[in-house]
Amino acid sequence: MRNIAKMATTAARHGVGLRPHVKSHKSARIAQMQIDAGALGVSCATLGEAEAMVEAGVPGVLITSPVVSSNKLRRLVELAEKAGPRQLMVVVDDARNVAELAVLAARLAYPLDVLIDYHSGYHRTGVVDENAALALARAINDTGSLRLRGLQAYGGHLQHIEGRERRNTAAAQLSHTVARLVAALESAGMPVEIVTGVGTGTHEADAAAGVFTEMQPGSYVFMDAEYAQVLAEDGQDTPFETALFVQSTVVSTQADAWVTVDAGTKSFATDSGVPIVARGVNGPSSYAFFGDEHGKLIVASEHRPSLGAHIEFVTPHCDPTVNLYDRYHVVEGEVLVDIWPIEARGRL
Ligand code: PLP
Ligand code: MN
Repeated sequence: MRNIAKMATTAARHGVGLRPHVKSHKSARIAQMQIDAGALGVSCATLGEAEAMVEAGVPGVLITSPVVSSNKLRRLVELAEKAGPRQLMVVVDDARNVAELAVLAARLAYPLDVLIDYHSGYHRTGVVDENAALALARAINDTGSLRLRGLQAYGGHLQHIEGRERRNTAAAQLSHTVARLVAALESAGMPVEIVTGVGTGTHEADAAAGVFTEMQPGSYVFMDAEYAQVLAEDGQDTPFETALFVQSTVVSTQADAWVTVDAGTKSFATDSGVPIVARGVNGPSSYAFFGDEHGKLIVASEHRPSLGAHIEFVTPHCDPTVNLYDRYHVVEGEVLVDIWPIEARGRL
């Protein structure tokens, strides 16, 4: 809740909108908390995530990846109908995709809102230059069934740059490029009401730069071991607190130099290092993956936890870890206060 409030305050202070990314938590309950704190809506990585949010009544959904293939485009238009006017937006980067979507969207009683996706130097998705953006904008305007609302420019490769100055310099360069792109579209008579992008790593620089009209950070809500390390500078605390933990149990203490816990590669995403003990061991320890269901917790004999002890870990990478679970156990202090479903888990 403090992380949600902090991001909302930063955005409000700079007069920038917030459409936090659902990919990190995949939960309608947390999405609603973000909206209650002032967010315009939520961003979704997949059509399935967007469907889960609309099913739960979450407004203002933006899909931040192009939706491709006839089945998915059909589902997208059905979702737009279910969500209602101006409650669903999708990014596009391709004229054929725009044409296919336009044909299906013609049956809606209102135009479907789209944003042009710009590659931002990341080149995962998005048009590659100004001319491509202008051509796509014209194609969108010609459809009648789609309405161009603006641009997305997500610099995913910038979010985890270590060192605030280097990260902010890279963010400023992208902002500069995006500002030129906006000017080019506007001088050609294309509306650019929305400029979205921005993750947790660059949110301070991007909020201050004044080019983005809204931000779509995700990880700030939970944080993880890798992101905390990137944001921690010169001994300074990170701006956001770790709010997501995986609890495990010590299931074997037979070895001398370690104990075995029941959390392995099926309990944590493994792309960003190892979990870090947050609670349950009084002293230094280190974790090593020990198969699908187990972890090796290396710990000096004087600090050995006993059989059955609960050990809580900070996750290496929050978003793909969340996708391994069906529900959150919501804890305040030592008290379990609620259990929330992770509605969009597995909705890929
Ligand atoms: N927007 C898009 C398109 C993303 O892919 C992501 C994360 O991968 C985010 C926003 C959120 O970024 P972060 O988790 O760094 O806050
Ligand atoms: Mn991530």
